[in-house]
Formats: sequence, structure tokens, C-alpha cells
Amino acid sequence: MSAKKWIGAHVSINGGIDKAVIRAHALHANAFALFTKNQLQWKASTLTINLIKNFRVACNKYNYTTAQILPHNSYLINLSHPIKDKLKQSRIAFIEELHRCEKLGLSLLNFHPGSHLQQIDEDNSITRIADSINIALEKTTGVTAVVENTAGQGSNMGFRFEQLAEIIRQVDDKSRIGVCIDTCHAFAAGYDLRTEQSCIATFKQFADTIGFKYLRGLHLNDTKTSCGSRIDRHQSLGQGKIGYTAFNWIMADNRFNNIPIILETINPTIWSQEIIWLKRMATASTTTNMVF
Ligand SMILES: [Zn+2]
Ligand SMILES: [Zn+2]
Repeated sequence: MSAKKWIGAHVSINGGIDKAVIRAHALHANAFALFTKNQLQWKASTLTINLIKNFRVACNKYNYTTAQILPHNSYLINLSHPIKDKLKQSRIAFIEELHRCEKLGLSLLNFHPGSHLQQIDEDNSITRIADSINIALEKTTGVTAVVENTAGQGSNMGFRFEQLAEIIRQVDDKSRIGVCIDTCHAFAAGYDLRTEQSCIATFKQFADTIGFKYLRGLHLNDTKTSCGSRIDRHQSLGQGKIGYTAFNWIMADNRFNNIPIILETINPTIWSQEIIWLKRMATASTTTNMVF
């Protein structure tokens, strides 16, 4: 097993945040993602000293370092909200999420850039997102803001690599900004991944526009929708429109080493099989199809 590919899934925190660690371990994962609170509510329960201790003890016990854990923020947060009060609410919640990561000893926070809701133009939207990140980074320490590419559904920003690059350009502290690339979102946004040639071309575009030094995580998802559909519908690996090739190719490429690689595929009951298959691909010299 290659220790350089850190592969896991987005696991539930039901029953306590430390339970996420146990769930990741049960999946044979050497990385995982989690929400640090209920992602569908603004309100967050307090992180007690006990909860924090239990989480850290579990991470130590099962050998997860902070670099292998990619927390995801709440879906309610819109760092590009066109309405002043709503934007303020999102910015406060985002800072709180970063503080929760600090308390848990986590070093990354994955989030979606934001939506302009057809009320401001794309340039203004990007500036608003970058301003939100700048404000949050100033008020926190130690946690890197990891902005995720989107499928470009509705008025979601960040579906073009150029948009993510522009957000990074406008962020003052370059040491605490990074990106997470979601394969389903990239494909839906029009970046082809169906063949090795298309993977090479897409990630060359990524390298030229954003740069691998900013890549802090991957979401590995196949998709139910076609290339360029701008519709975000995840699928299990190899069972969607992307197919096995992209995942084989990523596993064999060293540029994806030492970052959390997270499944958000739709069938949690096969996550452990998907993880085992990916780990095998990371060490294999030739590609094979997944066999269940
Ligand atoms: Zn994702
Ligand atoms: Zn998605």
C-alpha cells in the first residue's frame, strides 16, 4: 500500500465528532472528510473540551494527521451573497467554522466559493468571495481556506479554473489559500476526464491556470450528468459518465500525493471497496477495472 496517496470518504459525525474517525478507520481509509457541525443549520453546538479531546485521541489512535483530514463547511454559507446582512451572516459563520477547525487541531477548511444569485456580476462576485476570505484569514490562524471548484449549477461561482485563480490572486495571504478539485464538478463544468489524453489536458490547464502548489485536496466522484451539463449529480466510481480511466490515471500520478483524496460517491456501502481499489491503483503499474 502506498502511503503517499491519502484516500478516504466524507464520513458522518453522528453520535459525536470522534465517531467520524472510527468510521474512517473502518473503511480502511487513510484520509477523511467531515462536517464539524450540522451542515444544514446556522447554529452550532459548542465544542466542549471533552469532545475536542475525544476527537484528537481518536485521530492519534488511528494515525490520522491533520494533513489527512479535510473538513467541509456548512452548505448555508454564501461568501458572495449580494445582500449585505446575509453576506455578514455568512462571513461570521465562516469565521466560526475556521475557529472550530483551530480548536480541533485541523489545518484545512474546504468550502464552496459562493453564488451571485443573479444580483451581482461575476467579477464583483469573485471580489466579494476574496474579501470574505481575507477577512476570515485575518481573524484566524493556522487553518488554510480550501476553495472547491463547482459544477457551475445555478449561479455558483468557481466552475472555471480561471475564476479560482482570480480568487487566489485577490487573497492577501497566499500561504493560507488552496483549492480542492472535485472530479464530478470539473466534468460537469466542461473539463473532460474520459480518457487519459483528456485527463492530461484538463490537469495541464489546471497546472497552467492555478498551479499544483495550491492543490490541497481532491473530491473523487463519478457523475450522472454529461460533460458541460453544469449539473452536479455524483455517482459511484466507474459507474457514471467519467468512467474508471480518470481515477486510475489520478492514482498513478505523483502530483496527487500527500493530499486528502475524498469520496463523496453516492453509495456509502461500497466506499471501503472503492478505497481498496484506489489504493491498489496507486501502487499498480498497469490499470485495471474495479471488480466487486
Ligand atoms: Zn465535492
Ligand atoms: Zn457535488
